[in-house]
Amino acid sequence: MEVSRDEVYRYLGYRGIVPDEAVRARVEECLERVLSVSECRFAARRLDVVFPEEGVCDFGEMRVCSRDLARNLTGCVRAYLMVATIGIGVDRLIARANVSDVTAAAIYQAAGAAVVEAWSDEVNGKLLAEAREDGLFGRPRFSPGYGDFSLEHQRDFSRILGMPRIGISLSESLLMTPSKSVTAVIGLSETDHHCQVTGCEACDLGGDCAFRRV
Ligand code: SF4
Repeated sequence: MEVSRDEVYRYLGYRGIVPDEAVRARVEECLERVLSVSECRFAARRLDVVFPEEGVCDFGEMRVCSRDLARNLTGCVRAYLMVATIGIGVDRLIARANVSDVTAAAIYQAAGAAVVEAWSDEVNGKLLAEAREDGLFGRPRFSPGYGDFSLEHQRDFSRILGMPRIGISLSESLLMTPSKSVTAVIGLSETDHHCQVTGCEACDLGGDCAFRRV
C-alpha cells in the first residue's frame, strides 16, 4: 500500500511549508507504527441504482435524497457500497499518546487518516477491476457527509454491508469505531469517463465535468 506523505503533511496543516528533517523523521517513525498496528479490512456490495425522480437515488435497499450524489451518479446503472477500515490499533495509539505526547498523537491522527485513504484507494481499485470485467466503469467514490449526502445513511451502510462483522460499530451520532474507517458509494456506468480513483480533485476535467463531486 502506497501512503502519500503529502496527505500526511496536509492533515498536519503543512500547506506550502516544507517540513524540516526532524519533522520528516518523526512522521516516518509514527507512520511506521501506524502501519504496524493496522488491520486492513473491507466489505462491499454491488447494487442496481435507479433515479425515480430528480435528486433521488434508489439502490433497492437504500434510498438517498441527494442532488450531489445523483449528479455524480448520472448515467450509472449500478453502484458499489463499500466500507474500508484499518482497525482499532491506531485509535489506541492516539489515545495513549494523548496523555503522554500530544505531538505524536497529532501525527498518528494524520498518518491514520492517510493510511485509511490509501487503503480505500486500494479497495476502490480492486472493485473497479472487477466491474471492468463486466464492462462497467467507475465514478469517484462519494461518501456520506459529502455535500447533501446525509450521514444518516451510515446506518444503511452498516445494515447492508454487515459492518459489525468486520468490527465497525456506529455511535448515536453516526461516528464509526474504529475512527479510521471510510464508507462510500462508487457509481458504475457503461460509459468510460476516465475517472480517477483518487477523486475529482486529481482529475484534469475538474470543474468542467458534469458528474464531479462537490
Ligand atoms: S471530474 Fe474527473 S474524476 Fe470527477 S467525475 Fe468528472 S471525470 Fe470523473
